Amino acid sequence: MLNSLTIAISKGRILDETLPLLEKIGIVPDEDPDKSRKLILGTNQSNVKLIIIRATDVPTYVEYGGADVGIAGKDVLLEHDSSELYEPLDLGIAKCRLMLAEPVQKKSGNGRLRIATKYTTAARQYFTNQGVQVEIIKLYGSMELAPVLGLADKIVDLVDTGNTLKANGLKATETIYHISSRLVVNKAAMKLKREQIKKLITALEKVI
Ligand code: AMP
Repeated sequence: MLNSLTIAISKGRILDETLPLLEKIGIVPDEDPDKSRKLILGTNQSNVKLIIIRATDVPTYVEYGGADVGIAGKDVLLEHDSSELYEPLDLGIAKCRLMLAEPVQKKSGNGRLRIATKYTTAARQYFTNQGVQVEIIKLYGSMELAPVLGLADKIVDLVDTGNTLKANGLKATETIYHISSRLVVNKAAMKLKREQIKKLITALEKVI
C-alpha cells in the first residue's frame, strides 16, 4: 500500500514552471489549477494530491505537516527562516536575484541608511555581514515606490529582467542572493514516507 503524498505549490510562476516537471515524472492534476477554484486537487496518481496556496504559506504547511512536501522560492524560505524543513533539491526554476537597488539619481541623505523591503530577514543578515547599520522598513509590495517618495534611500527586492527597477528610476547595485525554487520536505514525512519521497526526489533530479 502506498502512503498518500501531499504536495504544496503556489499559483503563478512557480506553479507554471512546476507543472511541466510534474508531468515529466508522471504526475498530472485532474483539473487545470489555474482555472479550478479548488484548493486541493487530485492527480492521475490516486495517492498524490496537490494543494494550491500562497507562496509564503508553503513552508508553514510543510513544516507543520499539512503537506508532506512543497515547492517554494528561496526568497520565501530565507524569510521563513526555519531549521524544521529539509531542503533536498534545487529545482532551478523561477530564477531571479534578490538585489539592493537605489535611485539612478542619488539623493543626498543624512543619518542612517533606510532600506525598504519585504525581505527583512535576508536584508538584515546582508547588512550585518557588511558591518553596516541600517534602518529596515517592512513593506508588503511596490517597494520601488519607497525611494521615489522619500520613504527609504534604497530597496531590497527581487529582480528578474530589471525592467521594473528601470521604469521607476532605480538601478541595482548589489546581488544579495541568487534565488530559485526548492523542494522542501517535512521532517516526519521524510522518515514515515521515506520510500515515496526518495522516489519523488530521484525522479525530479532526472528531469531538472
Ligand atoms: P523584473 O521587472 O523582470 O526585474 O521583475 C521584477 C518584479 O517581478 C518584482 O516586482 C519582483 O518582485 C517580481 N519577481 C521577479 N522574479 C520573481 C520570482 N522568481 N518570484 C517572485 N517574484 C518575482
